[in-house]
Amino acid sequence: MSEKTKILCPYCLIKEIAPIQDICPVCYSKEDELEQNSWDDLRERNNTDEIQMFTLAKKVDEAFQVPENEAYACRERHEINRAETLKQKMDVFHRRRILCMVEIFSHIDCSILFDNHIDLKQYWTNIQDYAQQHISAEQLEKMNDYLRSQIMWKSLSSQQMDLAAELLSFWCGEDVLDWSYSQYFEIAASNLKSFIEKKLFIEILCKHFADVMSLPVKRLSK
Ligand SMILES: [Zn+2]
Repeated sequence: MSEKTKILCPYCLIKEIAPIQDICPVCYSKEDELEQNSWDDLRERNNTDEIQMFTLAKKVDEAFQVPENEAYACRERHEINRAETLKQKMDVFHRRRILCMVEIFSHIDCSILFDNHIDLKQYWTNIQDYAQQHISAEQLEKMNDYLRSQIMWKSLSSQQMDLAAELLSFWCGEDVLDWSYSQYFEIAASNLKSFIEKKLFIEILCKHFADVMSLPVKRLSK
């Protein structure tokens, strides 16, 4: 993308910005200090594709955080049924994230992680089955343990370790992903950016989350 091209701010879909700006000044002003620092860091990378990759990843993560925060507030107010409904909404969203990641991984060569030839085809099929609720997590865990044992951990660079960690954990739940459950795509973008064309990552993310992309970011009520 040319530096002169203007795009709509991905957060509000109102203001025109240069892609290098990540989000517009109005959206930026609504962020807390920690988030503003993270936008400043991103801007400094000075790479339009990378900035867009992370901005859109953050946008999908923001959409996930809306039901997550509401569910938390409901539990505080002891509205158990409403909290449970929101929890189910998050589960559905998470399954969509998993399917998106399977497609992203289909463009990444993971053979660099293994000493022996490992065919990951069955792994992808099982993850898709899991995301569509045809098989249980236990079945996937067994396969995961095997893959983990086959990865040449000691000879991996730190970037390759990030790739391996992503490969083994992206389908897991909050118990394993912990804080990266909320910042799922931001973490994935960071783990995978050296292994996939950034434009392709953006394209697949936009395809799977066209609904999220077409709406402005809903701000969390404090
Ligand atoms: Zn904006």
